[in-house]
Amino acid sequence: MGRIEGKELKERLFNDKPNGWEGLNDEERNDIFNFARDYMFYLNSSKTEKEIVQNSKDILLKNGFVDISEKEILEPGDKVFYVNRGRCLYAAIIGSADIEEGMKIVAAHCDSPRLDLKQNPLYEDNELGMLKTHYYGGIKKYQWTNIPLSIHGTIVKVNGERVNICIGEKEDDPIFTISDLLPHLATEQMDRKLRDGVQGEELNVLAGSIPYDCEDVKEKVKLNLLKMLNDFYGIREVDFTSSEIEMVPAYKAKSLGFDFSLIAGYGQDDKVCCYTALRGLLEVMNPTKTAVVVMTDKEEIGFEGVTGMYSRIFETFIMELIEKTGSARVSSLDRAFSNSKALSSDVDAAYNPNFPSAFEKNNTSYLNRGVTVVKYTGSRGKSGSSEAPCEFVAEVRGTFEQAGVKYQACELGKVDKGGGGTIALTLANRGMDVLDVGVPVMGMHSPYEITSKFDVYQAYKAYRAFLND
Ligand code: MN
Ligand code: MN
Repeated sequence: MGRIEGKELKERLFNDKPNGWEGLNDEERNDIFNFARDYMFYLNSSKTEKEIVQNSKDILLKNGFVDISEKEILEPGDKVFYVNRGRCLYAAIIGSADIEEGMKIVAAHCDSPRLDLKQNPLYEDNELGMLKTHYYGGIKKYQWTNIPLSIHGTIVKVNGERVNICIGEKEDDPIFTISDLLPHLATEQMDRKLRDGVQGEELNVLAGSIPYDCEDVKEKVKLNLLKMLNDFYGIREVDFTSSEIEMVPAYKAKSLGFDFSLIAGYGQDDKVCCYTALRGLLEVMNPTKTAVVVMTDKEEIGFEGVTGMYSRIFETFIMELIEKTGSARVSSLDRAFSNSKALSSDVDAAYNPNFPSAFEKNNTSYLNRGVTVVKYTGSRGKSGSSEAPCEFVAEVRGTFEQAGVKYQACELGKVDKGGGGTIALTLANRGMDVLDVGVPVMGMHSPYEITSKFDVYQAYKAYRAFLND
């Protein structure tokens, strides 16, 4: 055998990841753009965890899924879901194998960083109506000033009546904003560290300015706003005590760039994985292993709580699957978990040309190079991570390569620059193999996160291939 041409040898041996758009035919490009259009439509009406769970439930119902409570017995091919308190969703297609033999699970999270209203939010300052907020998740606070905000939420009265609020999304709705200090008077503020440039207690939302028309009363603007809320929703100030109200960017997801190749939109961490996992599940046909998709809440604040991924409600759902498929040994649940394989489907930090020094170029993710395969997360020496065994990584690679899914191996930025975690460990701790697979995002946790349409489509293909066991 002669000497191999260097170019050919390099192609064979190097792990160079090309830009995914190269070499695509028109049909593939169309599929990608059409999928992205559907995703952006879903994103625009799914800004909170409650909205995305409701929209996803609607999609499941249209595709033959039923609430698990409606089924006494589950047979292979049956499609069921369970909604946990309106904030978290589990969906499953029953496989032909016993659930004890393990499931295929894709788990994403449906909450995103935002500004929540405090429980005593409304006050008046020099005849301006204001709302106090407490930020949710890791944000750079200065990014949330001077942008249009919409208000989404639920207020529950003592009699149990629910009031849903959504203002700022329709074309002729008013919006809200947090006004930053003008540069002319910001000499002191500009000397602050960026972390404190805008502080938590400065994230107060401007909410109105017309006083109630009367004499001898203080706080007439606040009174007028409460009167309007009372007329419209029948609520009083005390009802904020039992409310969950979220301020999120009011603008829509849009195609980004002359070539329309990217998507800018709020909440893509991690609604992009919720949507691609859901779409993947819809196309699972007669699986051997039961296919499960999770959309969990409370990821951004540490996985805890009744709707978080640590919640026992997940066990309750899986036990119900086990019981209704006819097996109910005491050890069934643990066996099912220990034989299961899961993808923790969450986003990764894409290389940002404005801040190259934060990224280690050989091990960062890049837009347009496919789904991210993240063997470990964590910070300072992989701390707080559940590292995926290399055997399982190889198995997932095999699935992806067979299905023509483009993927890239990466980790979150440079060593010791920061770090982060995902729900992977909450699944691994239950006894299953777990690997983080998601979508690269630029500007993660900002009010306008950026993804690539190519990568979004790869995520859908990846989850579909993984679940279709
Ligand atoms: Mn995430
Ligand atoms: Mn996040």
